[in-house]
Amino acid sequence: MKKNLRTASLCVHGGYEAKNGEPIEPPIIQSTTFKYDNSEEMAMLFDLKKEGYFYTRLQNPTNDVVAKKIAQLERGVGAVLTSSGQAANFYAVFNICEAGDHIVTSNEIYGGTFNLFGVTLKKLGIDCTFVDPNDSEETIQKAFRPNTKALFGETISNPGCAVLDIEKFARIAHNNGVPLIVDNTFATPINCRPFEWGADIVTHSTTKYLDGTASQVGGCVVDSGRFDWLAHAKKFPGLCTPDESYHGLTYAKKFGAMGYITKLVAQLMRDLGSIPAPMNSFILNLGLQSLHLRMRQHCANAQQVAEALQADERVAWVHYSGLPGDAYHQLAEKYLPNGSCGVIAFGLKGDRDTAIRFMDSLQMINIVTHVADARTCVLHPASHTHRQLTDEQLRQAGVAPDLIRLSVGIEDVDDILDDIRQALNKAVG
Ligand SMILES: *Cc1c(COP(=O)(O)O)cnc(C)c1O
Repeated sequence: MKKNLRTASLCVHGGYEAKNGEPIEPPIIQSTTFKYDNSEEMAMLFDLKKEGYFYTRLQNPTNDVVAKKIAQLERGVGAVLTSSGQAANFYAVFNICEAGDHIVTSNEIYGGTFNLFGVTLKKLGIDCTFVDPNDSEETIQKAFRPNTKALFGETISNPGCAVLDIEKFARIAHNNGVPLIVDNTFATPINCRPFEWGADIVTHSTTKYLDGTASQVGGCVVDSGRFDWLAHAKKFPGLCTPDESYHGLTYAKKFGAMGYITKLVAQLMRDLGSIPAPMNSFILNLGLQSLHLRMRQHCANAQQVAEALQADERVAWVHYSGLPGDAYHQLAEKYLPNGSCGVIAFGLKGDRDTAIRFMDSLQMINIVTHVADARTCVLHPASHTHRQLTDEQLRQAGVAPDLIRLSVGIEDVDDILDDIRQALNKAVG
C-alpha cells in the first residue's frame, strides 16, 4: 500500500491490503481457534516467540485489521479492540495500575467511566481523585501522590461538551512521570488526534461515531508508543519487571514501543477476555469507511442546530464549542479546528418536566440511551444514564439537572430543526 495516506484515505484503506485474488473487504474470520501442523509451532506462539493466531480471545485476524486501521487513524503504534468502551477504559488503566495505586482524572467524563473509576476501581484497591479540568496546573498538581500512575480526560466530554486542554494535561502528567490517557470517542481521529498534542494513550467507545450505525458495542485502546516506561521503571513494575506468568519476559524491554499493547493482549485479554466478536469488528469497519464524511455532516448540522437553539428565547442555555460565546470555543479553535462533533448540551427555561415534555413531543428524533450515530437522538442524563448519581455527584460530573443531550445526526438539517421547533411549541408554547 502507498505509505503515508491521509486521514480520509486511511478511513477507506487503512489496516488491510488485499493481495492478489483476495477479497477486497476484510473477511469475517468467525473462528475461535486456528490449526497448526505441529505442536512445536503452536508452543512458539504461546511463548510469544513467533507471531500468529491461536485463540480468538487473544487475537483474531478480523479484529486485528480493524484495530490496525484505528491505530493508523490515531497515528499510534498499535491498538487493541475491546468488547465495549467501558472495557477499553478499564484496560487502559488496569494495564499500568494495581491494588495500592492511584489515578487522577478530569471530572468532566462519561457517567459510566465516572462510576468505573470512582466505585469499581476502588473495590480493586485503585484509588481515584477527580479534578476540575479547568483548574490551574498548580491546583491539579495537588491531586498527585507518589503512587499516582495515570492522568485521564475526555477530548470532548460526554454529556457536558467540555473541551480538554490536552497540552496542559500532558504537561501535568509528564511532570509527574505518568502517561496521559485521553478518551477520544466524541472527537474521533477525524477532528482531533490527541497524540499530536502530547497524549500517550487514546481510548474509544467504537459504539459511537466510529461505527456510526448503532449496530455494535465496542471499544479500542491505542498506544502512541512514546511513553518511556523504563525511565519510570519503579512506577510501572508490570511493564518493567519480568512477568512470571509469561516466562519471565519484561514487556517494555522485549517489545519496546509495543510493550504496553503486548502486555494488554498477553495478560489482560488472556485473563479477562473482553474481546469483540469478529462479526462486530467487521460491522465497525463498514462504519469506519465513511467516518470522515459523516463527521463533516454531524458538525455542519450541529452547528446550525446549536445556533437555532441559542436564538430561541425558550432555551435557557446551550453548550456547543462551535458557538463563538461558548466557554470552550477557544480550546475548540485550537484542538478542533475542523469541527467538534454532533453532540449539543442545552437546557430549557422551565422545570425538569419541561425537558421531559419537550423530549416526549419529538417525532423524528428518538429518545435513546445511545449517542453519536447517524440518527438524531436525545437523552435527559439526570433521568436516564446518570440516574444513580446524587445531585452532588451530578454537579461533580458536570451534569446540570436540566441538561438535555442532543446528538445531532446526519439527516437533512431542516427536518431536525422542524422537529425541534414543533416540540418546543408543544412543550413550552
Ligand atoms: C459511551 C462512552 C463510553 C462507554 O462506551 P461503551 O461502548 O458504551 O461501553 C466511554 N466513553 C465515552 C466518552 C462514551 O461516550
